[in-house]
Amino acid sequence: MAALVTGGNRGIGLAIARELRARGEPVAITHRGTCPDDLFGVPCDVTDTAQVEEAFEKAEAELGPITTVVANAGITDDGLLLRMDEAQFSGVLDANLTGAYRVARRGARSMLRQRRGRLIFVSSVVALRGEAGQANYAASKAGLVGLARSLARELGSRGITANVVAPGLISTDMTDELGETRRRQILDGVPLGRPGEAAEVAAAVGWLASEQAGYVTGAVIPVDGGAGMGH
Ligand code: NDP
Repeated sequence: MAALVTGGNRGIGLAIARELRARGEPVAITHRGTCPDDLFGVPCDVTDTAQVEEAFEKAEAELGPITTVVANAGITDDGLLLRMDEAQFSGVLDANLTGAYRVARRGARSMLRQRRGRLIFVSSVVALRGEAGQANYAASKAGLVGLARSLARELGSRGITANVVAPGLISTDMTDELGETRRRQILDGVPLGRPGEAAEVAAAVGWLASEQAGYVTGAVIPVDGGAGMGH
């Protein structure tokens, strides 16, 4: 039994990979170029179905059947609606939502054989509250909720759970790009008044992946300092 974390080479994905490993699970991460020395990495762009298949093949040849899949890889490409062209909209959907479908579909194949599995999708607080300038991103992240809940119903009888973790503002490369004013604005809506750490998201994912969370499926777990008030 092993785990695969997409986009596990940095940020939240890297923290998740380390958390799962610390909990005793062999872990493969996907990357698009560089991979930390201490982790087993397989190249994969989640927008390419063949690369997803190849990544699972390599990971399973090394570690055995993948029974935990964390669909973490994601991008932003912000813009106001009238300035957001179709490529900008569908590019984010393809990476964040269809990418998650691709890895879940391939991962479920192994999980069905093992009659055990954990599908975990990294969404966002903006999935359910929306965000001006992020129509593409919020739509992709909201889509993950429908995807996870459908899979929870479809695969539950085979011992496979499907859950979502919805982080708020977390300090990573993705949010380093935000200006100080925007950062302040976001933090004004965060009861805990600070950004989260990648390790705090990883802790929730680690629990969802564990045996202890065996009766939790179709859930959306916020890790957002209270920004979404558990929506
Ligand atoms: P980073 O930008 O730090 O890392 C993104 C990761 O996704 C990288 O590993 C990147 O790979 C990978 N990735 C992006 N596109 C693809 C692709 N097409 N195929 C494969 N891998 C890809 O982001 P975070 O760590 O902050 O974000 C991780 C997840 O958490 C994302 O889904 C994000 O939407 C979500 N999230 C983040 C929040 C935050 O505040 N940081 C808040 C809420 C959700 P590479 O290194 O090759 O670019």
